[in-house]
Amino acid sequence: MSLLAEDTGAADLGLRWKPGFHTLGPAFLTDLRPTPLPDPYWVCRSEAVARELGLPAGWYESDTTLAALAGSLPIAGTSPFATVYSGHQFGVWAGQLGDGRAIMLGETEGGLEMQLKGAGRTPYSRGGDGRAVLRSSIREFLCSEAMHGLGIPTTRALCVTGSDAPVYREEAESAAVVARVAPSFVRFGHFEHFAANQREDELRALADYVIDRYYPACRTTERFNGSAYAAFLEAVSERTAALLARWQAVGFCHGVMNTDNMSILGLTIDYGPFQFLDGFDPRHICNHSDTSGRYAFNQQPNVAYWNLFCLAQALLPLIGDQEIAVAALESYKTVFPNEFEGRMRAKLGLHGAAEGDRTLIEGVLKLLAAGKVDYTIFWRRLSDYMADGNLEPVRDLFLDRAGFDAWLLSFSERHAGTGRAEAAELMRRSNPKFVLRNHLGQQAIEASRKKDHAAVATLLAVLEAPFEDHPDADAFAGFPPDWASTIEISCSS
Ligand code: AMP
Ligand code: MG
Repeated sequence: MSLLAEDTGAADLGLRWKPGFHTLGPAFLTDLRPTPLPDPYWVCRSEAVARELGLPAGWYESDTTLAALAGSLPIAGTSPFATVYSGHQFGVWAGQLGDGRAIMLGETEGGLEMQLKGAGRTPYSRGGDGRAVLRSSIREFLCSEAMHGLGIPTTRALCVTGSDAPVYREEAESAAVVARVAPSFVRFGHFEHFAANQREDELRALADYVIDRYYPACRTTERFNGSAYAAFLEAVSERTAALLARWQAVGFCHGVMNTDNMSILGLTIDYGPFQFLDGFDPRHICNHSDTSGRYAFNQQPNVAYWNLFCLAQALLPLIGDQEIAVAALESYKTVFPNEFEGRMRAKLGLHGAAEGDRTLIEGVLKLLAAGKVDYTIFWRRLSDYMADGNLEPVRDLFLDRAGFDAWLLSFSERHAGTGRAEAAELMRRSNPKFVLRNHLGQQAIEASRKKDHAAVATLLAVLEAPFEDHPDADAFAGFPPDWASTIEISCSS
């Protein structure tokens, strides 16, 4: 559908763009163009994201659109740029980072920013080549859409374009570009950057921009001595708590929870070495580069809180009072457990809260951990048991049958007198049949490397609706093969 906009040599995607983040000015960003990706080809696309953006039907049918989304052709109405941020990486202040390979195209009239990740070097690339490899681009694409399908806040992905141009990591790989979409890509690290450089005017301008655009209710707070900045910190903290609760409940592990990978909107962002747990192991480390286990699965809620302290520290010049800043983080300690228990109750098919629910939740998690029981399969089988009364498929997952039977007794007692069908229905809406396990992503990647991109599309269709049965896709819902445990995902991407 896209045409070359007359006279400009730019592709017209049929979208209207507005300046958005660019209005903040040159202290926040550098104007630049993506570096063309040689001979690009389509790898995968999300029609759902295309619709959300308001792209016209058949948007992907022209070569100019393909070239534009690979960064090889300018897009009419956009003025691309890269933004600067800093951050704490693995608990240590890393100084200036920034969009080293993600180039912002702009913001659509509908309020969605679009970035091309892997679109070439920027002034913030440091030693990097500005590129992204095919495997990590497919993983980001699939996981963005999988998370959305699960109802978990996330940046989205419109498409991946690939190229046979070599990119060198541990070995030669091929390059790709992810076109990703979110209301905002602002990170905690954006605030840390201006705070660390003692640039209070810019810090305030950024906070005002984000508050006015995304957190307007903070303007009228009567709490925190009327500080909109403290109310903003609290709101970010609560969104982050809710996000972490959702990650933990679904068994998702983000491999690099550095402060520059924390979204100011509480979105899952920067998919690198992430993982959905197979067998339940609370101490699981999904990032091969995380040798100390800082980002182990069970550390993530605390790490998020630590990251929020960094954000609080950055906002302190605006809040003006340390006690108020600390008070603004206080609710994390109640919001996280409440949200987590709420999600786990839904997984257990419980509509309301009752005393003893926490024990019931802790009990099952302990049993799952002791047996390293497959997390997703357990919950889905428990849901099926509520529907059909067939206990064996659930019970067979446990070596400690007596322990499971004891837990099941308290589970059944908790459900006594409530509608079983209704509980089963809630459970099947709360316990996905499909998650993006490492090996599923890996199989799709291998196929794409051989130019068979249909495998990514097939997997996407299932992950977009992970609570549905998809009887033809049972192979995606099974136990991981033995080789899955040998997959090593690191920061290299
Ligand atoms: P990440 O760990 O992927 O969140 O990246 C941390 C920082 O390194 C960010 O500033 C990225 O933009 C930058 N970065 C990562 N990979 C590259 C690359 N290949 N080229 C340039 N910058 C990169
Ligand atoms: Mg990052």
